[in-house]
Amino acid sequence: MSASKATPPRRFPAALDTLRGARRDDGGADSRSLLRPQRHLHEAALDAARTQVPSGLGLDSAQVRARLVQRLRESGIGCEPVLDAIAAVERHRFVDSALATQAYEDTSLPIGHGQTISKPSVVARMLELAFGGEQARRRGTLGRVLEIGTGCGYQTALLARLARLVVSIERLRPLHERARANLAPQRGGDVRLVYGDGRLGHPPWAPYDTVIAAAGGESLPAAWLEQMALGGRLVAPMHDAASGGQVLCVVDRDEQGHVHRHHEAVHFVPLKSGRE
Ligand code: SAH
Repeated sequence: MSASKATPPRRFPAALDTLRGARRDDGGADSRSLLRPQRHLHEAALDAARTQVPSGLGLDSAQVRARLVQRLRESGIGCEPVLDAIAAVERHRFVDSALATQAYEDTSLPIGHGQTISKPSVVARMLELAFGGEQARRRGTLGRVLEIGTGCGYQTALLARLARLVVSIERLRPLHERARANLAPQRGGDVRLVYGDGRLGHPPWAPYDTVIAAAGGESLPAAWLEQMALGGRLVAPMHDAASGGQVLCVVDRDEQGHVHRHHEAVHFVPLKSGRE
């Protein structure tokens, strides 16, 4: 066959049409794609979406997630929709491949830029608390959700299965981009990723039936409370003056106003201002 005939190695200067990108057969790209400054970012996003997970570790098996769900059940999580979502979403696809083998242990993992993906039991607990809100209990869905702190997008993927719409805000651009790539292969759900300061909420899609934050500050930003729907619920870590640490804070909105409750101690990354 002619294709197997040895061709002499090309020497510099190489002809333009031999450069990568110029010979793509995907129909859309031509040699001009070499000049697109966004090209690298775009390719990095595609690469991240295709991240190769070490094979032979059994991480693709539904059984590893079923075991995690069993452990969550034993630790007291009883909200079936939340457990179903955890059984369905492949957490190892959201972390660095070097950490993939730890993805189904109940542990928080670094996601770069000084941030961490929360441990599954904490994510499950927050989602279960969110499901306890009046609207959510009545309708069996978290409805329209505002998530602050997209991170790598794992919790966003869970929320997408439990809500009608998820608006998720991240202030660090590299994580926002990474979440976009991680979430691209996920099926279903209406997810809008926003790069911005989540302390301001996101008025265009307000009011929200559920507000859920993965970073905690000294107090709850006024915008979150204002953007809650009637019958809606907020779940967020917050500084607790009494203990000097952080606690999970639940706020319900009814006709009379906002009702605040404090739950167990937690340890989330700080809620910061602005975006980077
Ligand atoms: N649930 C996430 C965990 C993310 S960690 C996951 O599944 O990966 C918390 C995230 O909150 C970090 O990515 C951090 O950058 C982000 N964050 C902190 N302050 C923020 C703010 N004001 N607005 C938006 N995101 C913020």
